[in-house]
Amino acid sequence: MIKLNIDRIGEVEAPEGITLKKLFRELIEKDSSIQKRLRDVVGAKIKDQIIDIHTPIFESTDVKLLTKKDPESLEILRHSLAHIMAQALKELYGDENVHLGVGPTTDVGFYYDVEVEGKRLTEEDLPIIEEKMREIIQKNYEIERKELDREYAIQFFENKKEFYKVDLIKHFIPEGEKISVYEQDGFVDLCRGPHIPSTGEVGAFKLVSIAGAYWKGQEGNPMLQRIYGVAFWTEKELKKYMNMLEEAKKRDHRKIGKELELFIIDENVGGGLALWLPKGAIIRNEIETAWKEEHLKRGYQLVYSPHVGKQELWQTSGHTDFYRESMFPEMQIEEEGYFVKPMNCPFHVEIYKSRQRSYKELPIKLAELGTVYRYERSGVLHGLMRVRGFTQDDAHIICREDQVEEEIQKVLHLAIDTLKAYGFDEFQIFLSTRPEKSVGDDRMWEIATDSLRKAIESVGLPYEIDEGGGAFYGPKIDVKIKDAIGRMWQCSTIQFDFNLPERFDMYYIGEDNKRHRPYMVHRAIFGSIERFIGVLIEHFAGQMPLWLAPVQAKLIPIADVHVPYAEEVAQKLREKGLRVEVDERNERMNKKIRDAELQKIPYMLVVGDKEAESGTVAVRTKKKGNIGTIPVEEFAERALNLIKEKSLEL
Ligand SMILES: [Zn+2]
Ligand SMILES: [Zn+2]
Repeated sequence: MIKLNIDRIGEVEAPEGITLKKLFRELIEKDSSIQKRLRDVVGAKIKDQIIDIHTPIFESTDVKLLTKKDPESLEILRHSLAHIMAQALKELYGDENVHLGVGPTTDVGFYYDVEVEGKRLTEEDLPIIEEKMREIIQKNYEIERKELDREYAIQFFENKKEFYKVDLIKHFIPEGEKISVYEQDGFVDLCRGPHIPSTGEVGAFKLVSIAGAYWKGQEGNPMLQRIYGVAFWTEKELKKYMNMLEEAKKRDHRKIGKELELFIIDENVGGGLALWLPKGAIIRNEIETAWKEEHLKRGYQLVYSPHVGKQELWQTSGHTDFYRESMFPEMQIEEEGYFVKPMNCPFHVEIYKSRQRSYKELPIKLAELGTVYRYERSGVLHGLMRVRGFTQDDAHIICREDQVEEEIQKVLHLAIDTLKAYGFDEFQIFLSTRPEKSVGDDRMWEIATDSLRKAIESVGLPYEIDEGGGAFYGPKIDVKIKDAIGRMWQCSTIQFDFNLPERFDMYYIGEDNKRHRPYMVHRAIFGSIERFIGVLIEHFAGQMPLWLAPVQAKLIPIADVHVPYAEEVAQKLREKGLRVEVDERNERMNKKIRDAELQKIPYMLVVGDKEAESGTVAVRTKKKGNIGTIPVEEFAERALNLIKEKSLEL
């Protein structure tokens, strides 16, 4: 017998291998009033594992019941939908023709990799599959768990022509382990669970897209079709998510980047290698200039390093051993090997080592907007978000032990201040601690981890600890930001490194005239400039704040006769440092205004007879419409102030 301590019910004795389903039935038979308490239970959590009511329990344990109100229960729903979709496919296209791969859950739903013999599924098939799924849900089939012997299971799936399932059993399930399957309405799928009690328990779902996926993610294997679905317990949540997707589509930085002529990715140049067009270059230059100024103010020193370095350098740093598959291949010059840099660190280490350092010089903070190149498979490249060449806003802090705490605080404050200036005010912070396999001594790990924790506490933000999730060479903080439509984006990282100082024998001369090993920290605030600008474009939906806008004001002459005055005003404003254009086209004023709005230009300055006579401009913004006629000087002053403050509003 085992003892289960179940919330809402209390302690219960039961035979080993009992399922919650059986247990609930027995409890209700004894005391029907319990039924009410169990009505919306869809599964449970034991230790950190989510189980369903079909899973046998073998040990005494605490059991936390999950209802549809617990976010964790979504896993159970989404998993079950993958099976329901698989059953629907079999019914639609024939049991014999549909070969199932894997069908896991995602953050918002599920997918299933499938092969349908003789048919290439398209998005047009999705509503048909959905309808079949609804039929299965309507019928409310009971879902049952069974355990099979290995040999029997292999034979069973072979008979069903489920070759991928057979492959999974042979390669991923150890000999001797029982093989669990779930069955509904005669449809059997290899699965560990968890699943809802019956198909009728399904909430709201939608099939959204189809993509190609190699079996087991390996090129050369058969290409399956991956059908993605999203799922929530309620229609309301699903609708909210679908609206967000819709909004995300409108804000897609690849689309906006093209419309506003900010950047292109040209197949003649190569995938994942961005070309910045003049307007995009202005945004980038403004961001980089602000970044440099802020870093200089905070005691960083700017450096530059080359794009390639010798093979030995990357060997010393360990990159050729641990990072090789992400690096562009080696090239030969005069019988020596070189690599394009995937990171800037070894260069900064060499700059530190360019002469002997004294304890008085520390901390040394070397900063660089360093462009690095990494091999990413062409299939995962995505606009500016995932590229092969990108610019890290990188810096390395090299300091003494007694400086660690203060320096880490400073760098986290710098990160949060910087991100807030772009209008991000919701953050998720993760602290990753020492993994089992690691280098560096206990004391250093403790001091470093402690300093990271204290820094997070000093900015007053909540955080999560990823226990054992740090790199083998040091603990780190990751900062994610929430954009205007609620998506989280990974940005800043503050990463200790106990490995490179050893490998490169970095030291400083202490007060005691002896050599000491410094602490080293890698850190980036944006992470990648390319990606950060991609995020900004989507966050602002292309409507950049004034200080970043490639064109800050558009002069709109009402008629041709007003063009000379418009030119005169434009020239005045340019001299004051504003980025201004004149719309000289022979178009109606409304069309010019509309076009300037589509180009996301912050200010539209309309000029006609009245303005020309009085030396004024009629100021418009997209959001507020006409906001008054003011002297040119006054407009310039107002705009320049907003730019100076890096204001997000007009
Ligand atoms: Zn399953
Ligand atoms: Zn680094």
